[in-house]
Amino acid sequence: MHELGVVIEIVKTVEEFAKANGVTKVDTIVLQIGELSSIIPKYIEECFPAAVDGTSLGETKLRIEVLPANALCKRCGKAFPVLPNKGLCPHCGGKDIELLNGKEFMIKEIVAY
Ligand SMILES: [Zn+2]
Repeated sequence: MHELGVVIEIVKTVEEFAKANGVTKVDTIVLQIGELSSIIPKYIEECFPAAVDGTSLGETKLRIEVLPANALCKRCGKAFPVLPNKGLCPHCGGKDIELLNGKEFMIKEIVAY
């Protein structure tokens, strides 16, 4: 499980951002995680309280937005969501697909007052 290291990196990044911008209290961190990312949102949520404990983000909330993965079928050229279709094109049944997105992992927003 590499999520704890990931969360600690996020906390560091947000603390640096807050310091650089004269922010005293960060209310919420919003993360975007692709459905096919190797990072599991549930683990991020579980690690978060330990990662912020004793930091200036002790009161900060975490919100995670999961981005659906989409792929393009190379046979018929149509785009479709990957997981509900188990990686097969629902239009022509093709298996030769190109992943368009779904592996994202980023800080979308830092809500501060
Ligand atoms: Zn197709």
